[in-house]
Amino acid sequence: MKYIIANWKAYIVSKKDALLLLDKTNKAAKKSSSEVIVCPPYTFLADAKKMKNIRIGAQNVFYADKGAYTGEVTLPMLKELDIEYVILGHSERRGYFSETDEVINEKVKAALKAGLKVILCVGEKERKEKNVIPEIVAEQVRADLKGVPKSKLTDLLVAYEPIWAIGTGASDTPENAYQAALYIRKTIGDIYQNVKAGKSVKFLYGGSVNSQNVMDFVGYIGIDGVLVGGASVKYGEFEEMIRLVG
Ligand code: PEP
Repeated sequence: MKYIIANWKAYIVSKKDALLLLDKTNKAAKKSSSEVIVCPPYTFLADAKKMKNIRIGAQNVFYADKGAYTGEVTLPMLKELDIEYVILGHSERRGYFSETDEVINEKVKAALKAGLKVILCVGEKERKEKNVIPEIVAEQVRADLKGVPKSKLTDLLVAYEPIWAIGTGASDTPENAYQAALYIRKTIGDIYQNVKAGKSVKFLYGGSVNSQNVMDFVGYIGIDGVLVGGASVKYGEFEEMIRLVG
């Protein structure tokens, strides 16, 4: 079973558009045996939860449960809505909102402890050698998973998203994405001194995935699915991707 995850970011702003897109995605997911997960902005989470054939994720969450944290959305709030997944460490959060690996690590630990499944994004800004996954990716994985119990790794999906491939139309090659899967699984195996630990994590690729290239990525056994930004909010396009992956 593959994972097809939509990150709507802040592309969809009206309830009318959100409901239309949710309905189309939900209908496409009904005919699919993949796990279709939609991560809309917070304001559409309650509407998204009404859809029967898709799973719902938030695009971020705070690590403390409650308190004087103006503007934050916390884990008990997501649990109240029965939200299953949360994206953490997205490069846009790291970049525009200065989220450090320390903050991301706090969020990862808190979300897993609260029983959510975490879609953890990692990826480099640039590559020195075209086909070599840079060490920074392993550093992010090590820092973001610090103190995460091994028993929680089955609730972890790591999305390798090279920043230069996000929203640019220039995806990484499927072969490099597969190499990243091996590299990240090995890194996790090393952290826990247990090869099985690396295997228990789901691996996703993200960065300019669309209906033209999605099958090249999910065709690899070691790639469990894709995280899709821009193409997930284009009417017809995300449905086509769900249809193709099956
Ligand atoms: C993303 O931001 O998670 C992403 C993969 O974006 P895009 O598909 O637009 O490259």
